[in-house]
Amino acid sequence: MSQFKDLVIGSLLHDIGKLVQRADPNPSSKTHQQFGADWLEEFDFLKKYSAYSLWHHTREARQEKVPLLMVVNAADMLAAGERTKHEEDAKTSWEREIPLLSIFSKIRVDDGDSDPGEASVSSPRYYPLKQADTVFFPCHLHDEIKGTREAYAALLSGLETDIRAIERAFGVNTLLVLLEKYLSYVPGDTRVEGGAPERDPDISLFDHLKLTAAISSCLYGYMIEKQPDVDGWDEEFIYDAAEKRYIVLDADLSGIQPFIYNISSKGALRSLRARSFYLEMVCENIANRILHTCGLERVNLIFSGGGRLRLLMPNTEKAREAARETEKAANAFFRDELSGSIGLNVAWEEFAGLEMMRSSEQGGESQRSYKKVLEDLRVKLETRKKDRIIDELIERRFEMLGPFEPGEDECRICHCESDELEPLREHAEGEEPVLSCPLCRDLYVLGGSLRGLERLWMSEDEVSGYHSLRLPFGHLLWPKDEEASEPEGGWGIVLDKRWDADSYHSPNDYGLSYPHYREGEDFEDLAEKSCGAHWLGILRMDVDDLGRIFGGGIPEQEMSFTRISVLSRLMNNYFREVLPSVLRGGAEGYENFTVLEDTRFPRPLEIVYAGGDDLFIVGAWNHIIEAAFDIRETFALYTCENQGIHISGGIVISRHDHPLYDLARIAEIAENNAKSVDRSKDRIEIFGRTGKWQKYSRAVEQLLLPFLNLGEGKGVVKKTENGNKHAELALSRAFLRNVMAIARRYESLQRSGESGKLAFPYLAYTVARARETIKKDGHNGGELPERWMTLERALFDIGNYDILYSLASWADLLSRGGRTDE
Ligand SMILES: [Zn+2]
Repeated sequence: MSQFKDLVIGSLLHDIGKLVQRADPNPSSKTHQQFGADWLEEFDFLKKYSAYSLWHHTREARQEKVPLLMVVNAADMLAAGERTKHEEDAKTSWEREIPLLSIFSKIRVDDGDSDPGEASVSSPRYYPLKQADTVFFPCHLHDEIKGTREAYAALLSGLETDIRAIERAFGVNTLLVLLEKYLSYVPGDTRVEGGAPERDPDISLFDHLKLTAAISSCLYGYMIEKQPDVDGWDEEFIYDAAEKRYIVLDADLSGIQPFIYNISSKGALRSLRARSFYLEMVCENIANRILHTCGLERVNLIFSGGGRLRLLMPNTEKAREAARETEKAANAFFRDELSGSIGLNVAWEEFAGLEMMRSSEQGGESQRSYKKVLEDLRVKLETRKKDRIIDELIERRFEMLGPFEPGEDECRICHCESDELEPLREHAEGEEPVLSCPLCRDLYVLGGSLRGLERLWMSEDEVSGYHSLRLPFGHLLWPKDEEASEPEGGWGIVLDKRWDADSYHSPNDYGLSYPHYREGEDFEDLAEKSCGAHWLGILRMDVDDLGRIFGGGIPEQEMSFTRISVLSRLMNNYFREVLPSVLRGGAEGYENFTVLEDTRFPRPLEIVYAGGDDLFIVGAWNHIIEAAFDIRETFALYTCENQGIHISGGIVISRHDHPLYDLARIAEIAENNAKSVDRSKDRIEIFGRTGKWQKYSRAVEQLLLPFLNLGEGKGVVKKTENGNKHAELALSRAFLRNVMAIARRYESLQRSGESGKLAFPYLAYTVARARETIKKDGHNGGELPERWMTLERALFDIGNYDILYSLASWADLLSRGGRTDE
């Protein structure tokens, strides 16, 4: 292995002794450096990295005068930022039991209601010591989540088993997956002074190791360009933190929305899924290309999701050139192959080691804080986007195509002009063929094979006889095929089984978290799985005020490169990892939201897209609504119920054959409505009515459930003769229709400036009639049920009238007996 790769792997392993030490019955017998070195000596293929563990501390690295060890030490200090001043002090002790604090506990955002600067933070939450391959939430501090020797020993033994299993495919990429699996919830630093930690550790050992390796690799790349003879690197050169040695690079794809959604309904669900997935792979390919061209590793990929990438790179001509070239080559590809429908924007900012740490205090006047570095980068990227002519092309293309029917020589799916139009799929006699372009045909095939897709290859070479997709830079994408032999070079991407060490076949394989979730064949199929009316639901959601969370959420004195990186990793992780588990009904410590006694899991939905800070989901309409509540609740748990972090969304309910681009557009309007009502946001729009999540939840208890069931428990589900399911109304449909009419009347009175209460006489009459029916039916032996009384009070409460219509519509649709009843 090259000197550079050894350095990166050495950096990734330098603190592994912390895990070994905490798992040991006699932890104070040795230092963590010694524990780590001894452990590495046990594996033939890891022996050579033991020096990185043994000598990585400042004093020792300097004494040894081995330049590469000093590089790791310098990187370690920059990654750890805030703890440098204790690093030398051998007298500090450490405490195995201290758990990892969730960084979301630390975020303080002015939520708009409270005074500026007022803390939005909740009580601190911690992670139990577990592997990262299960989904769970941070919790309050209690005895069970403290780090016991047994818990550490279990993690260590899992890591040892996997390390052995991965030996033949051992490399930076595969090591990264294992470290993420076992060290994501292990605190990086548990030193205490005077019996108590100065502050709870909020950086995991995984993040610390990965970011140390990223910084090491930048230092190496930068210094080797200046001084190719490594042995000539002296202390002063290596530890220089004032020079601008780093680049933080942001890349972002524009035109994603039209590319994904501006397609016709023919074969839409498959195409939609494939288009979204294809863009993920394009992003991966862009990251791989930049890293490969600069000779960097995946440790330098700080973040990838939502069509955005962030990389940490050495500030060298080679890196800048790679960035420029990649942007150019990708855009040439998009122009030729995708009619310029998407475009790549790349911008970067140079910065110094000092600016990596919280800096306004430490670095003095001349140094920016890392927050300012990112702010400057954001401005550059915005400018870059505006400059690029491609944006104009996208606008024009979207306008020209609009919601029109495609012309003669246009692809019926994406509307591009093509002289290679062929039927999308086999069609029955008499059925009109869906003529489509080659890319749409390829994507349709990919869409069909996405379920359970375990492995993909990205390479330059074709393998004859297999179906591949074209990517930028002359690369090809190969979905898994049992028979195909792996092409030389390129990358193997492990999707569904990325946590299994056995799934990795070569050092170039890497694991990718992708939100796989699919429970339907097509829109019609999903719609038919609804309860009541067979309609389709579309949900769009995104995190409110992301800029404020990242820009000012971390307290100034703790702002650092590492914390921002951890925050973006964790945010993305919710959408990619937690969300699919929640929809399947399998998140530990959370019970799914349902209004019906009989709700099936996994939910009949399809994640079209989820990553970064937003999502787009389609599915059975009632499940879409319930899933929205699941997402809001679990996102709150995930972010420590921090009052300053929330998510808003919009739902559209429609027939399954309505044009998709129109549904996407209306859902976006609904989402924007939810976000525009007040500064604190935290809202959902359903059936055109916007309200706070909590208000909707309360209304479900007070209004929706009584419409469906006046007894105990959830709404009762009935099966019709043809097997369709629908909820049974507690009273007549006429009663529900009257409530809907009253709600509409209230709204229109309000709009015309009159008192909505003018609608109440009719409400009083409707309620009195219903009471008589309930008494006559002998419910509860003549007594009015508790739930009915709740409903009555809620109906006369004007505070409910902004969302009453949507609650009644919800009950109405749930109770429809399938299509024949509409
Ligand atoms: Zn097409």
